[in-house]
Amino acid sequence: MSSLGIYLHIPYCLHKCGYCDFNSHPENTEEAQTYISALLLEIDHYAHRFSERTFSTLFFGGGTPTILPPESLDNILGRVKNLFNLSSDCEITIEANPATIKQKTLTQIRSAGFNRISIGVQSFDADELKFLERVHNEKEIYTTIDRARLAGFDNLSIDLMFGLPNQSPKKWRSHLRQAVAKAPNHISAYSLTIEPATSFFKLQERGRLHLPAEDIQLEMFQETIETLQSAGYEQYEISNYAQPGFKSRHNLNYWDNGEYLGLGAGASSYINGERYKNINLPARYIREVQSKGSAVESTEKLDLLHAMGETIMLGLRCIKGIAIEDFENRFQVSFKTVYGKVIDPLLKEELITFNNNRMALSRKGLYIADSVILKFLA
Ligand code: SF4
Repeated sequence: MSSLGIYLHIPYCLHKCGYCDFNSHPENTEEAQTYISALLLEIDHYAHRFSERTFSTLFFGGGTPTILPPESLDNILGRVKNLFNLSSDCEITIEANPATIKQKTLTQIRSAGFNRISIGVQSFDADELKFLERVHNEKEIYTTIDRARLAGFDNLSIDLMFGLPNQSPKKWRSHLRQAVAKAPNHISAYSLTIEPATSFFKLQERGRLHLPAEDIQLEMFQETIETLQSAGYEQYEISNYAQPGFKSRHNLNYWDNGEYLGLGAGASSYINGERYKNINLPARYIREVQSKGSAVESTEKLDLLHAMGETIMLGLRCIKGIAIEDFENRFQVSFKTVYGKVIDPLLKEELITFNNNRMALSRKGLYIADSVILKFLA
């Protein structure tokens, strides 16, 4: 059996950040209570179906899960632990926003069983945080990291964002240094992308938001790899870096095309080659779960070509790339026959490499990963 993870979505935030296209909604304390009840019902609904399976990762994402009272988080986690088989070393992650979490909360959730925390830092600069519409300040970043360590979180990740308007490589370097100085075990460093249906998209359309030029962004990306590698972090995915032994198992399961059960509004699942997607809007999700026990809005069985394309797309994001033998065994095809015409020009341009029967992006290919991956999906 392949590895299996659970994702639980908490869709509320103190404020909707201008760049955010996640399924997140302004805090609504009254609705959140009903939402938790619906989530518990959905957990009950799926438990019997997975009674023979063991889960090795559990991830509370959002939104901002730590916006909920620690008792509610404890309650939800307790229900999952009671009804699903979690491996003895199950990685149990919670995403946290520095403005939403107190020492007491951190201590409570750590003793409830969360053993990994992912903190949305994004920037160490007051102006950048303001621009991103984050609700926390620089001081709260430091206190949250210190408090999480004090509460016993010895697996701690932070998210950072580069390529912000007017951000210089020098400024980004200083953020990386500040991050490294706090010694998180894992760092996710993403470039700001402007997604449709965000307020940043509208600003960009009106000519009021300009991202740094591509060569500047490339310099920042290179700086990220070099600074973090020299500080002892391994780049194991385009945007993810870990100290030895601290790669995110939740993320790896996803990139390795592992199966996962998604619970909560808008959550996706991938089970038995089928993709399921829940209703996005919390109020509609709640109603649907109350009447049916689940809230699946759409299902999709990937055809062979799409399944192969997706395996390439996810696998190439990882620095170790794709094991050709595994791919051929899984899909019962010759890799060269399917992708020969795509591979040859990419090899000539030195965008991909083949070593030990694995295909991976070269350093040059990493910088333009999206366009290289697109060639396999055409
Ligand atoms: S805190 Fe995260 S999930 Fe919430 S609005 Fe901001 S970016 Fe989106």
